[in-house]
Amino acid sequence: MLAAIQATSPSLENWKSNFLSFISNRLDQIEKNDSMESITDISKNLFINRSEIMGQAALALIEKKYGHLLEQQYCQCPHCHRQIKAKSKKVKREIDTLVGSVSLYRPYFYCMLCGFGFYPLDDALGLSNRKVQPDIQELEAWLAAEMPYETVSDALERCAGIKLSNHHAHDVVKEIADDIHVLDVCPDKTEIQHKIDVLSKDTFRRPVLMIGIDGAHAPTRLEPSPRKGKRGKGEWKEVKGFRMYLINNDKIIHLISWHQIKSDKELENDLLEIKQAGLIPEDKVRICVIGDGAPWIWNRTKELYPDAKKVLDYYHCSEYLHDLANAQYGKSSRKSREWVEATLTRLFLNKADRIIAGIKQMKPKSEVAKDQIDKTVGYLSERKEMINYGSLKRGGYHIGSGGIESSNKFISNVRLKRSGAWWYPTNANNILKLRCAKYNKTFDRIMENRKKKIEQSITYEPRPKVHLIVNNS
Ligand SMILES: [Zn+2]
Repeated sequence: MLAAIQATSPSLENWKSNFLSFISNRLDQIEKNDSMESITDISKNLFINRSEIMGQAALALIEKKYGHLLEQQYCQCPHCHRQIKAKSKKVKREIDTLVGSVSLYRPYFYCMLCGFGFYPLDDALGLSNRKVQPDIQELEAWLAAEMPYETVSDALERCAGIKLSNHHAHDVVKEIADDIHVLDVCPDKTEIQHKIDVLSKDTFRRPVLMIGIDGAHAPTRLEPSPRKGKRGKGEWKEVKGFRMYLINNDKIIHLISWHQIKSDKELENDLLEIKQAGLIPEDKVRICVIGDGAPWIWNRTKELYPDAKKVLDYYHCSEYLHDLANAQYGKSSRKSREWVEATLTRLFLNKADRIIAGIKQMKPKSEVAKDQIDKTVGYLSERKEMINYGSLKRGGYHIGSGGIESSNKFISNVRLKRSGAWWYPTNANNILKLRCAKYNKTFDRIMENRKKKIEQSITYEPRPKVHLIVNNS
């Protein structure tokens, strides 16, 4: 913070009395309103005045805490350390906060030698470059994670009396979320360790860390071409994601969800970042990867988790068996159902090898059945270790991928798949980042880090002469 030369103005000594006389006058005005009868009327009238009243309260507190900066006469240039005098006229700045609007009249300093102008009060208060301050921005982002931008602006007006355009929330989400990476939405090492400790109590086995990986589809359109500025065509793209959660017997503790429209290689890099950051103490858990048959899931995790148990989602496997049985024994026939039931039971007895051998020996009823037999033999042979459901269950692993599927539904589908919505992938990803942060309970920490970043960005490194840019927007 800048060195301030204190100067206490007599008007600031009564910081509270300014506010008290304001509120007293305002109450008199409100009270004169004859049409005010019910509690709803009283509440409405106060609500209309709320922004001004609370704005005055905020101003009083700013005067109390930063009176010396409001009346500052001299200040050191942060670059050349010369003492400079404030410009003769204070400069007005209006800011909007969650509780109300505040008009600040604060001194402006300009160092001719460095070509650098600054407002010590703005820096001390950590003001955003925008008129709308970080507390409102945080709420906009929080709401935008749940609802369309248009509804965000309605909600803000109804609940807080703040009028902002749809675009404002959109821009704020972009500013906040563009910088968010996978580690930002993850709980830290200590929190994860604590959760593992909770689950390890009263049991001799290490808890299982399930890593569910899956894709879901989202309606997207291509980003507009910068040259033509046309809207891109709509297409469905895969949101790839993973969810890590701990289980021990019937207890489940969520750790991390992360969903993004990106390539499988990029998703692998995100998993690698978590690994390299040492967030998961891998010697304290038994890792298990679960997914459907999509080859990318298994290709991308085999090097990251070479010793992990692998599970082919049970429902997915049984669908494969149903397809085969329908082709061989007739669709939905009794024979078909009986065969699937018997085969699944045998899978629980760890008889994958014998099942595959049995399917090989089937006499195909038709060409279609023959194709299905070959396909199933190939499919199961490649995944033999992933379908021994009996021993997996006894080991305490989940055999269904419901954990990641529900994460897909709650994080991605609920917000992205609204009728008529077609997302630019970067915008969709920004919303997904915020939703993951909320789901992982790291949203507040992200906002706290952002605040720190803004504060740290106020540094006064030696700089070349530049033209002054007034930062009000
Ligand atoms: Zn200077």
